[in-house]
Amino acid sequence: MKVSANKELTFATKSLLAYLLIPLLIVTPVSLYLAKKGIENTLKTAGANYVDRIEDVITEIQIDTSLAMNQLSSCEAIGEKLLFASNLRELIVVRDNIAVCSSKRGKLNVDITSTLNGQPITNGVFLYDLEGDSEKRTIVVANSIQDGGKNGVFAVIDKSYLVDRILHIEDDKINHITAKFNGKIYPSTRSFDSNYVYKILKSKQYGFSLLIEVSPAYVNRTILFALSTSFPLSLLISGILFLVMRKLKQREDLGAELKNGLNRKEFFLAYQPIVNSQTHKLLGMEALIRWQHPSLGLVRPDIFISLAERQQLINDITDYVLEFAYSEISQSKNTFSTSLGINVPPSYLHEQKHLQTLVNYAEKLKLLGVTLTVEITERQILDELGRKALAFLRQQGIKISIDDFGTGHTALSVIQQTEFDYLKIDKCFVDTIGVETVNSAVLNTIIELGHRLDVQMVAEGVEELHQAQYLAQMGVHKLQGYYFSKPCSLKEIENSWL
Ligand code: C2E
Ligand code: CA
Ligand code: CA
Repeated sequence: MKVSANKELTFATKSLLAYLLIPLLIVTPVSLYLAKKGIENTLKTAGANYVDRIEDVITEIQIDTSLAMNQLSSCEAIGEKLLFASNLRELIVVRDNIAVCSSKRGKLNVDITSTLNGQPITNGVFLYDLEGDSEKRTIVVANSIQDGGKNGVFAVIDKSYLVDRILHIEDDKINHITAKFNGKIYPSTRSFDSNYVYKILKSKQYGFSLLIEVSPAYVNRTILFALSTSFPLSLLISGILFLVMRKLKQREDLGAELKNGLNRKEFFLAYQPIVNSQTHKLLGMEALIRWQHPSLGLVRPDIFISLAERQQLINDITDYVLEFAYSEISQSKNTFSTSLGINVPPSYLHEQKHLQTLVNYAEKLKLLGVTLTVEITERQILDELGRKALAFLRQQGIKISIDDFGTGHTALSVIQQTEFDYLKIDKCFVDTIGVETVNSAVLNTIIELGHRLDVQMVAEGVEELHQAQYLAQMGVHKLQGYYFSKPCSLKEIENSWL
């Protein structure tokens, strides 16, 4: 006893650990992966933004430069044109390798052959150290004038503009940005490399590259957030998993309980009167099973009948119902002279021994004045074997009622081939009486069909007088429903109806 209790405990502990750990082991890596993707995206978006900014400035400078190139003959005019170009430190015009004009300083005469290193002036963007000082490194946009590379215009971007506007880091997600123009790096103190998380973006338009490095604070914050949200999330998943598994287990338990319940005789029957539609006098009753579960209380048949079908206990239930009903009725001092409807699943009809059971009970009940009616639901379409069984039962004096008529998809031909005595019109059609719905017309069609097939009809779920009146007027023979009586004990039937 103790050993098995211990075993159960370790099993419970293990399951609890599994419920907690499995979601955690899935959710945590997923959220860390998403965090990593988020960081990468931040870098990509921010980097693309910086590339755009630099490209925009270079494009602006190109426009200014082309304006100035229209005025090459007048240095003053250039100065005036570019007086307010805030992004420009100065624009220098070079003729024959001599700087002849500066937009800021006016006319010049400075030989720049050494600065050019003997290279011809070509169109492009590069980094240049002003006054040879790498601290004063800035962007220069060069435009050559087509004659052998000794004439051109150099636009020097304002260093503070570069620092404060273009490469200024506004949020704490980014540690630093490094730019590379033709192999030269800005800022000069850095290398174009990182041993932390970074991304490199290239300008398609001007060919420079940017290296953007994320800040450790942002990475830590993102990871911490991912971890702190993944924990409650996985706890939530654990909870849902636990509830789902418990529900499944309860189902399983209920299945096992069902067998025990039958053995322990926890099931009993309620009987619902079926009355003559004209006189409202008792013609019969339907036996409806109830389960008084020791801890769950009264369990509805909707729940356990389908479970019993899955657990292949439904035939045991049918046997139980027959035995229980017979036992109760036989113990009564009254004679009933009514019919007794019991719900029989088609599977029950597949075995000869069950057919014999039905015949035996029908004979025994007959002696007590009760005619056995087998209610077969239309939804569980009958096969050839089932139809033969019904024909056999009818020959033996058992009445056949097609239950829930109109709710299934049984073809009319199948209905015509089936031998039966009553059609039970489902409650959902009765509900439409006096209400304008699509199904209102269906009720009348079903009733007409019943008349044409020349069978008696029973309407179930009659809750109102006007429904009873309508059905009676339409020639429906029998009625059943809360308007007349809810399912009740046999004693109550005896007291109120006999
Ligand atoms: P069913 O055969 O269509 O039985 C009629 C159901 O409608 C019963 O529910 C009954 O209580 C309910 N009912 C009757 N009149 C009214 C009414 O005026 N208004 C409303 N709202 N409901 C009404 P119950 O007893 O809960 O049974 C539900 C289903 O469970 C039955 O539907 C039947 O398919 C199945 N069932 C019940 N007992 C047995 C049984 O012994 N064996 C089998 N195989 N199935 C059974
Ligand atoms: Ca029924
Ligand atoms: Ca029904």
